[in-house]
Amino acid sequence: MKFKYLGTAAAEGWPAVFCRCENCERAKKAGGPNIRTRSQALINDDFLIDFPSDTNMHMLIHNIDLSAVKYLIVTHSHNDHFAPIDLFFRSKSYYAHNLTEEKLYLYSNEAVLDVYNKLLSDYPEEPTDLNIIPSYIPLYTPTQLGKYTVTALKANHKPSETAYVYLISDGDRTVLYLNDTGRLYDEVYDYLIANKIKADLISFDCTYVLLKSGGGHLGLDSCQIERDKMLEKGIADKDTRFIVNHFSHNGGAIYQELVPIAAKLSFETSYDGMELEI
Ligand SMILES: [Zn+2]
Ligand SMILES: [Zn+2]
Ligand SMILES: [Zn+2]
Repeated sequence: MKFKYLGTAAAEGWPAVFCRCENCERAKKAGGPNIRTRSQALINDDFLIDFPSDTNMHMLIHNIDLSAVKYLIVTHSHNDHFAPIDLFFRSKSYYAHNLTEEKLYLYSNEAVLDVYNKLLSDYPEEPTDLNIIPSYIPLYTPTQLGKYTVTALKANHKPSETAYVYLISDGDRTVLYLNDTGRLYDEVYDYLIANKIKADLISFDCTYVLLKSGGGHLGLDSCQIERDKMLEKGIADKDTRFIVNHFSHNGGAIYQELVPIAAKLSFETSYDGMELEI
């Protein structure tokens, strides 16, 4: 499985849109992997996780054929994970010619599908031939999307909706994609243990970075607790890759500073454009 991080920042980006804090200024000055855009990841060439406002830039920077994406799964309706206005540009009659995939299958929770439906009704003048097929994916129900098996797990995040994190397998490798979430619920562990899940890659929410974590996000402190529990429960083993992701500028360490700190704790640090073959 090819797994590529397209964006690795929390909602505001890092450097954040309007911010001049020391962490943003240092990131700007250092450049390269210290520059982080809003969260998104691509599996192989046809499976996309989340659709933030930086999607178009990700397509440009990484030379991606977005029309080759057949499946789009969205974690929750925060706009750093679902900013759907650019989906209008999938219209065949006006904007999107010679599509690699005729249809795009969008899977998510009810709140995200509501946002998508509201978008369509809010812009009646926009084209309707987007060839997007929205579907609800229920919790704890493995769903076959082509060769991929996708299971939504309950995230500890955004209590006003049932936010999801996902277990994704391509029939060969298994990824646990944990954005956005705070400490994982027991029911998530119960599901993973009961179904004898062993992950090859676990991507952690690390919004708090070096700060003490709490609420609906993790930081390095709580990533360690979750990782150790996964090892103990057999959800991960010595071959599993543990990668931290989704960083807030308030968290302190820019990429270059975080890499050695995370490595000491046996985590890899994601960056925009990081590509893995797992
Ligand atoms: Zn987020
Ligand atoms: Zn800042
Ligand atoms: Zn969120």
